[in-house]
Amino acid sequence: MEASILIVDDDPGIRSSMCDFIELAGYKSLKAESAFEAIEILKANHIDVVVTDIMMPGMNGLELTDVIKKDYDSEVIVVTGYSGNFSYVDAIGKGASDFIFKPFRLEELLLRLKRVLRERQLAKERFLMLGKLEKLAITDSLTNLYNSRHFYSQLELETDRANRYKRPLSILFLDIDHFKEYNDTYGHLEGDTALFRIGQIINSCLRIMDSAHRYGGEEFTILLPETTVRKAVGVGKRIRGATESQLFNPSPGKLVNLTISIGVTQYCYKEDIKDFVQRADKAMYLSKQNGRNRVTPIFIKESGKTKDKKC
Ligand code: GH3
Ligand code: MG
Ligand code: MG
Repeated sequence: MEASILIVDDDPGIRSSMCDFIELAGYKSLKAESAFEAIEILKANHIDVVVTDIMMPGMNGLELTDVIKKDYDSEVIVVTGYSGNFSYVDAIGKGASDFIFKPFRLEELLLRLKRVLRERQLAKERFLMLGKLEKLAITDSLTNLYNSRHFYSQLELETDRANRYKRPLSILFLDIDHFKEYNDTYGHLEGDTALFRIGQIINSCLRIMDSAHRYGGEEFTILLPETTVRKAVGVGKRIRGATESQLFNPSPGKLVNLTISIGVTQYCYKEDIKDFVQRADKAMYLSKQNGRNRVTPIFIKESGKTKDKKC
């Protein structure tokens, strides 16, 4: 897509010659005779670079740069004939990408424009790359759920929040039943496919503020902010039911079910996060002991003692 350049200058002659030159160089150019008109144009158009004079009646070019850097995603090149009054430092301090003294040759403006556009493109690519790396660092590559590192950083954030605002926070600990047997029978690749599918099922049962993580191997954790253990049991039951009713097709003509065992518990005020996770893990083991394919909560009583209940 061709870059859009907005020329802002109260001198119609300078404005037109800059626009013509920029169009000739292959860019789209727009022009404004004041900072106010420039802002109207910025509201209605995507502009890559604004080339603005400093000395203009009403609002000057540095004030315009301030507005652009606050409210719009455009680069700014500042142009001035009054080098004594405004400095390069003033313009760069406001966020301008470059500064040119009048009179200048149009070829010089074009060179600077090309450099600013190239840097803008590089900055965009760096931003996208950073976003991808950040996502990669917290994502489990097999299931696309969050990984266990992210689980622990989320857990710290959420327990801090639960302590500060005295809000409920619950956790689900999930483990696939007899998954070794599934792997041994159908192969590791089919096991991986099933893990991915179960990850999707888990995600489809969650609300926007809940987060699901692959804790390790065939174990998952789900953090449920603003949720009491009773409500969390409901979420666990939904996931258990959805998994049980999913048919897996690990070999031609073979349709099989997989089930999961789930432990549920609620965070206690100021509790160590290790104790919180261990309690959820213990609840999950109670589900295993009691026949698998079930959801077991451990409720916390006022005394801090625990009480489990089969569901
Ligand atoms: P239980 O009902 O007691 O949980 O039995 P289980 O067989 O699921 O438990 P166990 O801990 O003995 O086995 C877990 C299995 O999970 C072992 C391993 O084959 C499988 N597993 C762990 N990680 C992966 C993985 O990334 N891919 C695949 N395909 N299998 C995995
Ligand atoms: Mg396990
Ligand atoms: Mg298992």
